[in-house]
Amino acid sequence: MTYRELLKVQAERLENSGNDNAEYDCAELLGSASGKDCRSNGYRLMLDETADKDVSAQFEALCDRRISGEPLQYILGEWEFCGMKMFVGEGVLIPRQDTETLVEIVLNKYKKQDSIIIDLCAGSGCIGLALEKLMGCKELYAVEKSEAAAKYLKKNAELHSSKIKLVMGDVLETSALDKLPVADLIVCNPPYLTGEDMASLQKEVTFEPETALFGGEDGLDFYRTVTRLWKNKLAEGGMLIYEIGAGQEDEVMQIMVQHGFENVRCRADCCGIMRCVMGTKN
Ligand code: GLN
Repeated sequence: MTYRELLKVQAERLENSGNDNAEYDCAELLGSASGKDCRSNGYRLMLDETADKDVSAQFEALCDRRISGEPLQYILGEWEFCGMKMFVGEGVLIPRQDTETLVEIVLNKYKKQDSIIIDLCAGSGCIGLALEKLMGCKELYAVEKSEAAAKYLKKNAELHSSKIKLVMGDVLETSALDKLPVADLIVCNPPYLTGEDMASLQKEVTFEPETALFGGEDGLDFYRTVTRLWKNKLAEGGMLIYEIGAGQEDEVMQIMVQHGFENVRCRADCCGIMRCVMGTKN
């Protein structure tokens, strides 16, 4: 059997399991099993060769994982964010395209190359690392409480030759504050799913850490506490920018206004959903 025939067989299995992107996923998984990037010429040339037994077995095993609901990104062990490769796997939130909105807003509206930046709830580190690479900064700090997530953050920092400093701590506790300098820009994509959201997660998302998803019963716990605590770590004129869940903009803007932020506003993502809320410290 050729690789092309093998792809067809596995894509059918994936499709029958309810996967709407079966062909795409299979190409990625065969790329991973064969060690050839599925967008490369080498991969395309390989498709008409007779499939190697070991590669076939490996490919089938990866397809089995995908059929069980495991996210494609975890199986591949990496995913792209803002054009940068990020290592991902069990225990860390997968970088979403939605989150590129936050990076784009900062690049378009903020544009300061010599800032001290803090990335709260940093996870894989994708936001901070993208800002460092695409905008530049004087210093970059990441705060993360999960050891499992921090493992990926460190790998990603190394991959991108970053100067990011990782501070292990809980952004909801004052003890984390003492370990950080006053910043010009604080970015934060906190857990913001509600209790109701958590009860109806897509199968793939159930593989991701609950601590990176659940933002308390109304989804707003982190916005309330982070705004209150971390405004003390912002320089005058500094900006705090959050990613938010669909429909949370009014409440999050209200929280920021209540804590004295100025010029509080929200911005939509490419689908027209309000995705970020930001404000300036007076
Ligand atoms: N954007 C994620 C989702 O919809 C949630 C991540 C988060 O809470 N920051 O699954």
